[in-house]
Amino acid sequence: MTTDVLVIGSGPAALAIASGLCAEGLRVDGLAAGDPHAPWGNTYGVWAPELEAQGLDHLLEHRWSNCISHFGSAPVVHQHDYGLFDRTKLQAHWLEPCERGHLRWHRGFATTISHDQDGSCLSTAAGEQLRARLVIDASGHQPVFVQRPDRGPIAYQAAYGVVGRFSPAPVEPDQFVLMDFRADHLTAEERQSEPPTFLYAMDLGNGLHFVEETSLALAPAVSPDVLERRLRRRLAFRGVAIEAIRDQEHCLFPMNLPLPDLSQRVVGFGGAASMVHPASGYLVGALLRRAPGVAAAIAAALNDPNLNADGVAAAGWSAVWPASLVRKHAIYQFGLEKLMRFSEAELHQFFTAFFALPLPEWYGFLANTLTVPELLGAMLRLFALAPNSVRLGLIQPQGRELALLGRALAG
Ligand SMILES: Cc1cc2nc3c(=O)[nH]c(=O)nc-3n(C[C@H](O)[C@H](O)[C@H](O)COP(=O)(O)OP(=O)(O)OC[C@H]3O[C@@H](n4cnc5c(N)ncnc54)[C@H](O)[C@@H]3O)c2cc1C
Repeated sequence: MTTDVLVIGSGPAALAIASGLCAEGLRVDGLAAGDPHAPWGNTYGVWAPELEAQGLDHLLEHRWSNCISHFGSAPVVHQHDYGLFDRTKLQAHWLEPCERGHLRWHRGFATTISHDQDGSCLSTAAGEQLRARLVIDASGHQPVFVQRPDRGPIAYQAAYGVVGRFSPAPVEPDQFVLMDFRADHLTAEERQSEPPTFLYAMDLGNGLHFVEETSLALAPAVSPDVLERRLRRRLAFRGVAIEAIRDQEHCLFPMNLPLPDLSQRVVGFGGAASMVHPASGYLVGALLRRAPGVAAAIAAALNDPNLNADGVAAAGWSAVWPASLVRKHAIYQFGLEKLMRFSEAELHQFFTAFFALPLPEWYGFLANTLTVPELLGAMLRLFALAPNSVRLGLIQPQGRELALLGRALAG
């Protein structure tokens, strides 16, 4: 019997969409390269209100109310809680509906796929053939099947982080630091000529802290060696010694992937579908929020007797990338291109102005929950709040910015 949907992958995106599809009562198969129950390695953070809005804040393992950033002399206080997911609970939150819906897991690597009017037939590296009415590619940022146009260099968020014991503590007790952009540990020449990076840091309790040197986005990516050296210098400059390393995190993922071709037969979800927020790099909150709606749209399409497999895929893509999100993606990509050109001093000014926006605006910008007019309104207000040097940077189009602006305006 042909299954309704085959989901490729077992990362957050695959589990999110598979659980939504199972909750819709569809027959779902999963293809996992490894054990789908194996713990995830990445630490996933989120603004707590994103989860509260969905009644899911019990999925947090850590939560901070004392949340700050440094962009200059006085710290900026963020008036929202931030949290880190309990990865075991997050995984279980998605796996349980899959188990209730009798999702069948297959193990292997997807390699090739062919399509006909009733569905698709996928082959694994081991030669297994899997048939489904719809295939969803959730194989991450370098997807196995989803195709995207080439629109030039890809910018990557890169970070090197350490979970460990420090002396003295790198942040205040119970504190979360979203971005510490202070760079007084670097020479004037380094600050001029090298890419800006910031510290993301938090008190995990029981004497443990997580500190991560991060490059928001750059093409080519800042190398792991540079990030590690920067982190060690930053800590040494503040008189903080690393006493014990419990875990290290090397982070690298694309920030400005073009939208996929929305007419292809395999539907993407998560990193595979360029769903990472192009201005912040966040994805997991959006997966929780959006997977049920996308799954419902796919279920409706599969239950529509007038739609063939092409029509079902088209309905899936429309749910993943409706016109309003396409438009916002273009606006965010334009904004990111600007940010990548800013000097360290301009970034300080930019973020100071950004977090001076009314809380619903900066939060809605980062969570991607504003409407298009609200997003444009927030950007206009930001322009009004920013000093002249930043305004000048924002209005001078360089490189591919004009093309990106064109796409943002055209929607
Ligand atoms: C270190 C790090 C930290 C991050 N921190 C955050 C954060 O704090 N908050 C946030 O919201 N986002 C964060 N992100 C961004 C984003 O949420 C993650 O990259 C997230 O893991 C993407 O989820 P995904 O399921 O799309 O892809 P992945 O997690 O990459 O999962 C892809 C899955 O597909 C499988 N696969 C790949 N190829 C095949 C194949 N050919 N056949 C079968 N299976 C295949 C893989 O085994 C894997 O199971 C972070 C990313 C990284 C790398």
